[in-house]
Amino acid sequence: PRRISTTGVPCRFILMNKPVNANQEFQSDFLSVTEARNAISTLIQDIQLQAKRSDAIEKLPLKQCLGRILANDILSPINVPATDNSAMDGFAFNSKDLKTDREQIHLRIVGTVYAGQTSVPPTQASECIKIMTGAMMPPDCDTVIPQEFTQLSDEGLITFAKHTVRAGENRRLRGEDLQADKPAIQQGRILKASDIGLAASLGIAELGVYQRIKVAILSSGDELCDMSEPLVPGKIYDSNRFSLHACLSRLGFEIIDCGIVRDTPEDLRHAFTLASQKADVIISSGGVSVGEADFTKQIMDELGEVGFWKIAMRPGRPMAFGSLKPISPKTSPTVFFGLPGNPVAVMVTFYQFVRNALLQLNGALKPEIPLVLVQSAEAIRKKSGRTEFQRGVLFRDSEGKLFVKSTGSQGAGILRSMSEANCFMILHHDQGNIAPGDWVDVEIFDGLL
Ligand code: AMP
Ligand code: MG
Repeated sequence: PRRISTTGVPCRFILMNKPVNANQEFQSDFLSVTEARNAISTLIQDIQLQAKRSDAIEKLPLKQCLGRILANDILSPINVPATDNSAMDGFAFNSKDLKTDREQIHLRIVGTVYAGQTSVPPTQASECIKIMTGAMMPPDCDTVIPQEFTQLSDEGLITFAKHTVRAGENRRLRGEDLQADKPAIQQGRILKASDIGLAASLGIAELGVYQRIKVAILSSGDELCDMSEPLVPGKIYDSNRFSLHACLSRLGFEIIDCGIVRDTPEDLRHAFTLASQKADVIISSGGVSVGEADFTKQIMDELGEVGFWKIAMRPGRPMAFGSLKPISPKTSPTVFFGLPGNPVAVMVTFYQFVRNALLQLNGALKPEIPLVLVQSAEAIRKKSGRTEFQRGVLFRDSEGKLFVKSTGSQGAGILRSMSEANCFMILHHDQGNIAPGDWVDVEIFDGLL
């Protein structure tokens, strides 16, 4: 195929696996989104091995680990909870006392146990102990009757109906949350708030996480104007570097901002060489579309192996991807993503291709975001043979039923469509027109942006 470079690893991979279908509306030199993702994943795995990311581990105090990627399995050193304990405020007793024909159970209160108390009195048949949530279960007791189901009589007796509790209820078992010596959190996990809490519940003060990869960002285009300069007719402010910076900060990567680069071979060569010395990954925007990519291509041929792709998707059709040769003192190649210039296309290609690749490169396992099937509230025109990432709004109708609708104008330059959306509606490669009520895949922005 014409537009695919035959030099880089990803491109070879694609050429071997490209199904050619002459009847398809899009010609065979378009890659499908899936093919592009596979090619990216293959190269990333390759570089991940070369970069020996397993060597790049740092120990951090727990409070600094949110969003970082766990480098080793965490085995639980203890049982959590360490002993059986009560899940309710109530009265602990032995369930043998429920084995009677009588409907009402009467138990004598012989003591009280609070959470945190380290010794607990014993009980005998027809006796109970007043117990608080989280308090250790008395040795002979296996069941707790919640306080609200009992009546207290003057002589220190409680009464409750037998059917209100079954043997073993309202008791938390030793090790039911985490068992000693079993994996509590797995290597490759992007640490969430709950993981931080889990580690704390095990008494683990520090975690080994992968060092953050360094990502260089730059914007290419002669029309771009830095905010510090006056905006003159014919120029636009550079917004892509800011949206990319925000996307990357949210994911916790180290960012190197390489600014705006003019469309000349000298400037591009200089910028990419500098960036590849410092960064593990370079993300540029602009300058990859047909007719614009000539200089970028020329420089990429000098510096590494990069394929210039046309992807059967909307928005975000052109994209460059590959690797730049290692420049000492680095030993592994720099990954290069050349995203399209349109502000929405930048964000879509970032989330659909770059996000997972960066997390994978940094050691994360399964960084994918789950898709949710939702009914479309409206008709959508969609051509089969390309994937569309429409910006959508999830909402509930007056009966509480969940629907998705588009944010309206879907032009690749209309950043407002992205800003007003709360999800991507993903209209798959083979999907055609959508009728109201049809089910569509949705990727919710929370967890994404
Ligand atoms: P290109 O891919 O370079 O042809 O750019 C496509 C469109 O995106 C053009 O209208 C550019 O002006 C616009 N564009 C390119 N880079 C940026 C940027 N950094 N910020 C905002 N718009 C941009
Ligand atoms: Mg341009």
